[in-house]
Amino acid sequence: MSVAENLNALRYAIPANVRLVAVSKTKPVKSIKEAYNAGQRIFGENRVQELTQKQPLLPSDIEWHLIGHLQKNKVKYIAQFISLIHSVDSLELLEVINKEAAKCGRIISCLLQFHIAKEETKFGLSFEEAVDLIHSEKFRKMKNVKICGVMGMATLTEDESIVRKEFQELYGIFTTLKEQDFSNEIGFKEISMGMSGDYKIAIEEGSTLVRIGSAIFGERA
Ligand SMILES: *Cc1c(COP(=O)(O)O)cnc(C)c1O
Repeated sequence: MSVAENLNALRYAIPANVRLVAVSKTKPVKSIKEAYNAGQRIFGENRVQELTQKQPLLPSDIEWHLIGHLQKNKVKYIAQFISLIHSVDSLELLEVINKEAAKCGRIISCLLQFHIAKEETKFGLSFEEAVDLIHSEKFRKMKNVKICGVMGMATLTEDESIVRKEFQELYGIFTTLKEQDFSNEIGFKEISMGMSGDYKIAIEEGSTLVRIGSAIFGERA
């Protein structure tokens, strides 16, 4: 199946209130153009270097999302154009994003990434760490970042019940934070969860942003 056919199949499977982030990491500009020509406008990359190489070669109305772990010293390379950073996992990183956004005269939208999977290698905050971040004096003073919701990755397993439980956990974190800390902020509304292998479960459990790569572009090398 072509990229356009894969996208059409996904659009059929994804409800209108859920946005699709086409994860183009490791894929060439040519494949991204194919998806763009099929109407896709939101693309996700997980490495800053790859993103900054591709971005100037592609149409300017693309909304670029950073979905992978972000190092503080790389924020400056994407601050000008990034639409949403899914992977904020520390106050220190958020401080740097705030500083670089201010230099560009922007307010950068961010999601707090939570550690919901069993694997130890996956990045992300615990609920307690997130609450500490949100309640910190430093965070309160930040004017150039906006927290729009949460993100998480489920365990890579065949066992659907584990995946579903982890997505339910992330949904619970979202609703608790919404009630406790963001009840006056209509912009706090995103739950980024679900990839090629588990997006259907994620949507059933309340996802608003699915991040899908291989089901669009084919397997990565
Ligand atoms: C690679 C990646 C995806 C997409 O994975 P697929 O299984 O190819 O859909 C989603 N989210 C993150 C954070 C990724 O790194």
